[in-house]
Amino acid sequence: MYDIIIIGGGPAGLTAAIYGARAGKKVLLLEGNQYGGQIIKTNDVENYPGLEHTTGSDYAFTLLSQAKSFGAECVQKAVTGVEIIGDGSVKKVLTDSESYEAKTVIIATGSKNKPLGLKGEVEWIGKGVSYCATCDGMFYRGQDVAIATGGRNSLEDALFLSNYCNKVYVIHRADVYPGDEELFESMKKKENVEFILHSKVSSLGGDDELKSVVVEDVKTKESREINVSGLFITIGHEPDSVKFKNVVDIDNQGYILSGEDCLGKVPGVFVAGDCRQKKVRQLTTAASDGTVAALAAVEYLK
Ligand SMILES: Cc1cc2nc3c(=O)[nH]c(=O)nc-3n(C[C@H](O)[C@H](O)[C@H](O)COP(=O)(O)OP(=O)(O)OC[C@H]3O[C@@H](n4cnc5c(N)ncnc54)[C@H](O)[C@@H]3O)c2cc1C
Repeated sequence: MYDIIIIGGGPAGLTAAIYGARAGKKVLLLEGNQYGGQIIKTNDVENYPGLEHTTGSDYAFTLLSQAKSFGAECVQKAVTGVEIIGDGSVKKVLTDSESYEAKTVIIATGSKNKPLGLKGEVEWIGKGVSYCATCDGMFYRGQDVAIATGGRNSLEDALFLSNYCNKVYVIHRADVYPGDEELFESMKKKENVEFILHSKVSSLGGDDELKSVVVEDVKTKESREINVSGLFITIGHEPDSVKFKNVVDIDNQGYILSGEDCLGKVPGVFVAGDCRQKKVRQLTTAASDGTVAALAAVEYLK
């Protein structure tokens, strides 16, 4: 019987493991893929307070060894669901091969960026392709970039880029942006922003690094190649939380409903990091959630 089982070994889950184990609790962390979560995809992290520069994999490795040094048990297994046993004081965490029991569970399963699915997209991640303007925008200061956008938040990403980059091509499939006409109108007045509406990115070009994108008008089918050193893909995220819907509430995009207190709907079940419905998804906010959720679990165990 564990005190705390953490599902997901990204920054939120590993931070929760550090706090839980340091509080003297018996902690098991289950990671379905690679320890470290999304951040291992990037070479440059420059916005984590107290660290001027690190790589995603160094950051992840340090977090993992820190969690283990305090006694957290870390096992690479994907969780398939959580069951509540009896009066709810015991939670059973299921994987394909085994199940584990705990008094509390922290769900920290993060989310994945939706890809465009283009040839070269994966290879050029960190070499021109990015899914996060807040994280990587500064690396393209003074350069020409494009942003393939989805909804309201991605227009804010485009605004962020326009403050640093020489030129920002804002590519959007529809004629207008859903929900934020005011921001759309004010962005249209910015000299370094060019909207390319009813269009999609149809292919990528480059060698060691991304050099250009081909944009296709979805109405006329005409294509145009644009030279850029960066393409930001902000068409949404894919959290994978449906398997936990018996213990948490989920919004229509798959994010788990939980406030800043990181509580789920079932006593003893907590939620941390990017899988939670919230506005800002960064290392700092994931670490913050991991801290809050672990301390809430410790409090519950009292
Ligand atoms: C390319 C890139 C660059 C970034 N750069 C920065 C940056 O410079 N600065 C910054 O602050 N943020 C950056 N971010 C954002 C940051 O990485 C995320 O906000 C952060 O990783 C979220 O942490 P998390 O633990 O909540 O989720 P994740 O990092 O998504 O981790 C969740 C983990 O849970 C695991 N998991 C999922 N389902 C299951 C399951 N069923 N069973 C077991 N395990 C499961 C996943 O495999 C994953 O390892 C970047 C993101 C990307 C993609």
